[in-house]
Formats: sequence, structure tokens, C-alpha cells
Amino acid sequence: MYLKNKADCCGCTACSSVCQHDAIIMQPDAMGFLYPVVDKSKCINCGLCEKICAFKNNYDTSLNLSAPAAYAARHKEMAEIMKSRSGAAFVAISDYVLERGGVVYGAGYTEHFRVVHKRALTKKQRDELRGSKYVQSDMRGVLLQVKQDLIDGLQVLFSGTPCQTASLNKFVGPRLREKLILVDIVCHGVPGPYLWRDYISYLERMHGDKITEASFRDKKWFGWTAHHESFKFKHGGIERRKTTYTFMFYRHIMFRPSCGECHFCNIKRPSDFTLADFWGWEKSVPGFNNDDKGCSLVLINTVKGKNIFDAVSDCMDVIPVQLDKALQPNLMRPSVLSPLSARFSEDYAKRGLTYVMKRYGNIGWRYKLRTLCAKSLRKIKSGIKKVYQSISCIIPVGRIKDIKLL
Ligand SMILES: Cc1cc2nc3c(=O)[nH]c(=O)nc-3n(C[C@H](O)[C@H](O)[C@H](O)COP(=O)(O)OP(=O)(O)OC[C@H]3O[C@@H](n4cnc5c(N)ncnc54)[C@H](O)[C@@H]3O)c2cc1C
Ligand code: SF4
Ligand code: SF4
Ligand code: SF4
Repeated sequence: MYLKNKADCCGCTACSSVCQHDAIIMQPDAMGFLYPVVDKSKCINCGLCEKICAFKNNYDTSLNLSAPAAYAARHKEMAEIMKSRSGAAFVAISDYVLERGGVVYGAGYTEHFRVVHKRALTKKQRDELRGSKYVQSDMRGVLLQVKQDLIDGLQVLFSGTPCQTASLNKFVGPRLREKLILVDIVCHGVPGPYLWRDYISYLERMHGDKITEASFRDKKWFGWTAHHESFKFKHGGIERRKTTYTFMFYRHIMFRPSCGECHFCNIKRPSDFTLADFWGWEKSVPGFNNDDKGCSLVLINTVKGKNIFDAVSDCMDVIPVQLDKALQPNLMRPSVLSPLSARFSEDYAKRGLTYVMKRYGNIGWRYKLRTLCAKSLRKIKSGIKKVYQSISCIIPVGRIKDIKLL
């Protein structure tokens, strides 16, 4: 297992899961992103770990329709929409699997809001997997667990980022794939787990209290379109705002390097379903999301996806839409990482979260100075525009050109 650079690895854990000799462990870097490290004393050079890597080799799209079928979708129950990130398409599809005795995998929490992939056998367990967690989830042990479920004859729904579904698809192989339903999300990129861990600790220090509930994006208070976090504290405190974590998320400064070279930001999806926020829904389905509670874009990528979607669409309002009108940036190209990402990562490793929040986030003197400069520049520009407009009222435009020539 040889990585030329960090951007060649999405941290899916397939290589360490396939190694029969326990020669690969996944080790975190300074941001908490996992990378494979080979113990040469155990390795027999069989090459399996290289072959299994769906990120470096082509991923499988052999079951895909010629083009995905696109739909705007919202669950008929408002309570389900309110508990989900978009229009609760994930709940509708996972209900179908759970009601037939299957199992569902997705991103949930473990101790102190650490994000990991989890297995759910009931709707109550599944509910924890709802909602977007804007941090890379830990997949260690999960590929083997899914494979075992499939060998045991269970129907499995696995939901995650497309690099995770592509990896699982390759890991289980074509025979076991029959009982596997893959659901991916349109993916902007994932921040490092340690940043989220430290951010939780920072908020707890500021409040002098423990966090009991965390939402990366609270639409109950702010609506679906806004991106504001919310946190509940043990002794009654509440924090709801657009915080520094979100600010840095949109600067693309704390993403995994592979996210800048992601192979899955297109419509050749590695899953049966692709779920997303339906940005631009107004153009395709006017009035559908007027209450701003959330609207899903669902792409059906395979025949299996189509059959399941037909069976679950009773519990949703579903409208077919034109694919080209539903495309958003991360269905066409990867996010462009900030040129400051490497420096951010070094600073974080050396000086910690508070330092990088001040230097690259929206707190501290640098941010205040930048905002002030931008404001002053805007004012100067609009002043110049006004002067130009008043001059061109007095002197006709042709004359101004003459004056310039002179
Ligand atoms: C890191 C990240 C980036 C995203 N970027 C975009 C984007 O650019 N454009 C866009 O339209 N949509 C994006 N989404 C997807 C979107 O926010 C919703 O997750 C999706 O529309 C499903 O919504 P839902 O209402 O059907 O389901 P929900 O009930 O909200 O279900 C959430 C689903 O997301 C999965 N999930 C949550 N967090 C993670 C995680 N950290 N890693 C892997 N899987 C996770 C769960 O397993 C579950 O399947 C992103 C989501 C994440 C987690
Ligand atoms: S992408 Fe997955 S399989 Fe490839 S090197 Fe990274 S962890 Fe291993
Ligand atoms: S080459 Fe084979 S033995 Fe060596 S780490 Fe890879 S899978 Fe394990
Ligand atoms: S952007 Fe691509 S590489 Fe990064 S987490 Fe999403 S799917 Fe994986």
C-alpha cells in the first residue's frame, strides 16, 4: 500500500479490512483523518490492499442506468421532514428496509459527539443516523460488519458519502451486492474529526457546561436554507448561531485533501440512490418548498433503486424533474480547497483550535480587519461609481471617452 500523496486516500478503510494478515492499521493525522499504515514485518506483498482501493482505481458503475432519473421529494409527514436535513428521503427508504427485517447503516454519534458509522435494526436506532454531520465519520470495522450481515442473508441499506459507498461496493463484490442497497449523498467535503472534537470542548469551556445535544444545521429555528448550528447544554443553556465551525467549513480550509480531487462529483454515482438538498427547486417545482422546511433531490441510479423508490413513493410527495435543471456544483466538480489548507493544518497541529479560529475563522482581529477593509473598499467603489454617474449626466459618455483620449 503506497500513497504518493494524501489526496490519493479518502480514508474508507477497505485496504485495512481486506488484509488477512492484520498488516494495515488506520492511523489519524493531526486533523484526525485516518490513513493506512503498513506494518512491513506482517506484510506478505499479496497486493490485495492496492486492488481493493476504489478511490485510486475506477469505481463500479456497471449497474447504472444510462442517466439518473431525478425527482423532487418531500416526506408526507412534516414531523419526519423536521427531524431530517432535507426532505426526509433517507427515512422513507430506510423505513422500507427496516419494515422488511433489514438493517441500516449510517453516520451517528458515539462518545462525546464523535461521528462514526453505526448499525441500526430499529427505527429508533435509525433516527440517530438522520441529519447531516459535517465531519468525516469513522468507518473502522464497518465494511467487515456489513459483509457479515450480507453473508448472513440480511438485506442491508448502507448510507454515506459516495467514497464510502464506492468502497463498500467493491469490498463486498457482485454476488453479495444483490442484497445491498447503497445510498450516497451529494458531498461538499468533510472536515477533520479532531476539529469537531476540539470545537465541542471549546464551546463547553466557554459555557462552563456539558453539551447534551448538538445539531450541525438546525432548521427548526432558522429554516432549511440557513446554515446555523445549535447546541443544548446540561443546565439549560442554548447556543444557536452561525458559528466559526460553519464559517471555516465554507472556506474549504479544513477538508480532507482527497475532497479537492474527489472522483464522485458527477452524475456517474456509485450507489442505487443519491440524496441531496434540492438547491434551485424553485425553477423545477415552484411552490413545492414555500415553507422552507426542506426539499430533497433524489437521483435514481439503478434498476434496484427505481423498484424501491416506486415502492416507497406513497409516503412522499414526488415530482419528476429535469436532471440538467437539478445539477448543483458538487454534482459537476469537486469543491476547490482553500490554498491556505496546508498552512491551516500545520497551524492547527502546532497551536490548536483557538489559534486557527482566530486566524482563519470569524473571530479575532484579523477577521475584524479583513471585514473593515472589505467594507471600506465597497464604500470607496460605490463612491467612485456615484461620481462617475454624476459626471456622465453633465458630460455625455462620448465626451468622457474624448477626454480620456486627450
Ligand atoms: C459532509 C456532508 C456534505 C454534504 N454536502 C452536500 C452538498 O454539497 N449538497 C447537497 O445538496 N447536499 C449535501 N449533503 C447532503 C444533505 O445535507 C443531506 O444529507 C441529504 O440530502 C439527505 O437528507 P435527508 O433529509 O434525506 O436525510 P437525513 O435524515 O438528513 O439523513 C442523513 C444521511 O446522511 C448520512 N450522513 C450524515 N452525516 C454523514 C457523514 N458525516 N458521513 C457520511 N454520511 C453522513 C447519513 O448516514 C444519512 O444517510 C451533505 C451531507 C454531508 C454529511
Ligand atoms: S482510499 Fe481506502 S482503500 Fe484506498 S488507500 Fe485509502 S483507506 Fe485504503
Ligand atoms: S500487500 Fe497484502 S499482506 Fe501486505 S498489507 Fe497489503 S493486503 Fe496486507
Ligand atoms: S468530497 Fe469526495 S472524497 Fe471527500 S468525503 Fe465527499 S465523497 Fe469522499
